[in-house]
Amino acid sequence: MQSEIKNNISDITFIGSGISSSFTILHFLDSIEGQTNADRQICITIIDKYNEFHTGIPYGSRSGFSVHLITSLKNFLPEPELGKFVHWLNNNKNWLLEELKNDGGALAVDWLNIHADKIAKNDWEDLFIPRRFFGCYIDEKVKNKVQEFQKQGVVSVKYIQGEVSDIEKVEDKYELFLESDTSVLSHKVVLSVGSLPVNHLWKKEDLIAENNLLFVNAPYKPELKETLRKIEDFTDQLPEKKINVLIIGANASGLEMLYKLNDVDSIKARVNKFVFLSTQGLLPDSVVDEELKKEYTPYNLQALATEKSLTAQIIADATYKDLDHADEMNLGAASTVEIISRAFGSLLGSLNEEELKKFACLHGNEIGRRQRCAGFHYSKTIDALKQEGRFDHIAGRFSDIKKNDVGEYLLEYLDTTSQKNVMYDDTVHLVINCIGSTNLNKSDIPDLLKNVINKGYARPNDSKIGFEVNESLETSKNLHIVGPLLAGNVFEGKAVWHLEHCGRIIWLSEVLSERFKEYFFKENELNQRS
Ligand SMILES: Cc1cc2nc3c(=O)[nH]c(=O)nc-3n(C[C@H](O)[C@H](O)[C@H](O)COP(=O)(O)OP(=O)(O)OC[C@H]3O[C@@H](n4cnc5c(N)ncnc54)[C@H](O)[C@@H]3O)c2cc1C
Repeated sequence: MQSEIKNNISDITFIGSGISSSFTILHFLDSIEGQTNADRQICITIIDKYNEFHTGIPYGSRSGFSVHLITSLKNFLPEPELGKFVHWLNNNKNWLLEELKNDGGALAVDWLNIHADKIAKNDWEDLFIPRRFFGCYIDEKVKNKVQEFQKQGVVSVKYIQGEVSDIEKVEDKYELFLESDTSVLSHKVVLSVGSLPVNHLWKKEDLIAENNLLFVNAPYKPELKETLRKIEDFTDQLPEKKINVLIIGANASGLEMLYKLNDVDSIKARVNKFVFLSTQGLLPDSVVDEELKKEYTPYNLQALATEKSLTAQIIADATYKDLDHADEMNLGAASTVEIISRAFGSLLGSLNEEELKKFACLHGNEIGRRQRCAGFHYSKTIDALKQEGRFDHIAGRFSDIKKNDVGEYLLEYLDTTSQKNVMYDDTVHLVINCIGSTNLNKSDIPDLLKNVINKGYARPNDSKIGFEVNESLETSKNLHIVGPLLAGNVFEGKAVWHLEHCGRIIWLSEVLSERFKEYFFKENELNQRS
């Protein structure tokens, strides 16, 4: 009996199976290649609440085949993974492109036609490819690697579908409780749950359907395709009128929703106009102005190059001034993001650890908010709507949705300029919340995170979107984090804040896999279990 219990204890359990856990598993298995131990295997358990593993929300079926990366492929994926992926893409493009055609509509066909030449020549790096292509690659790669190591008897891997809602320390292990009333015992636990979930803007449900109103709080839940189907059904229920669509949040997801609503013919035909609501009233930028860019210099940041006593605040202030200067020149983020990031990045090396942490927690993401870019394919959909007079952008914050006397709905918002509550002068029928994630100070965070905080197993840092960890990426002994919840920390002398970035995910998943190797192996021998 005792040995049966011991055998059922996992060595490492990943809660969440997106690219953060996938890269950690890949790096870990690579690092233990050839290090076999006749006595026992390393038992890995992978848990995800969704019925799909290895891809997470953006690169799997929750997003689908016809939504794209927010950057070009070369800016998404660093070498050596980029070269490996491109090689795989060349060998798999025929079926992938078929999937894109099947999933997408007119805009997907448009993308294929525009880039037909580059695709034929396998010239992928400048393209904003459908991000599911990467999901298919990573899924195949993890499955193959796991199978190979299982065959050699080095590891055993178990998959569980279910939501983990709580963790409890039991002696030197953790017990993980799933919502299905089952539990898993594990020596090491990795919280690889991705970014914090979206902040619900109106009522508590993910989707609220009323007469004349459909309010979508979580567009990728359960899947984008399902949300689009519900939107189609909603428009079918209002055959006598064309609808007005309100998208709250002018970021990558906001643009993606607008793109997909214009890609599905049956929805597009039913829309009168699209309205964006965002605090600044600005859209992510997509076109580089090569001429004006030559005239731009981040001189406030450059002036700090010889400064002896720099602080996070001084660097951030200079960055904002250089961003203001770009605004005055009418030069967008697509033209300045590299220049400005390089300029403040080169100064960060002069900060001590405490100041680096302040930059990671308080300034990195704030600066990032002013550097938002988008693919041209997404932004040109807006240009076309503007030409047809079917696009409006309000600068303000969402306050409420109110029903009028005839049962139609109106938007109330806090106007950015006047700082007064105002009613938008037209009715809205479909509202999509793309406002972004909640933060760890709020009460609406998932139970799992609430519980690890309340039990003192993990402490949020000042970024409010990440946890304090040590150099083994632990919040407490044997409870690790990988992925976006590492925001606001300093690793290997580098401040990190935007951990959604694939290159940073790859880097830190390798750091974590090295710690695992040190923990499980001593001079190439697998340690015995406690
Ligand atoms: C819609 C969308 C589009 C994006 N597009 C891009 C892009 O184009 N380029 C880019 O660089 N970045 C993009 N990102 C950023 C993205 O967060 C990262 O690239 C990356 O996906 C993070 O991977 P992850 O594994 O940490 O998280 P995720 O991909 O979010 O995976 C986490 C997994 O954990 C599971 N999970 C969560 N809680 C629990 C629980 N309690 N129990 C069990 N399972 C749980 C979830 O179901 C999910 O599968 C996008 C993000 C989103 C949401």
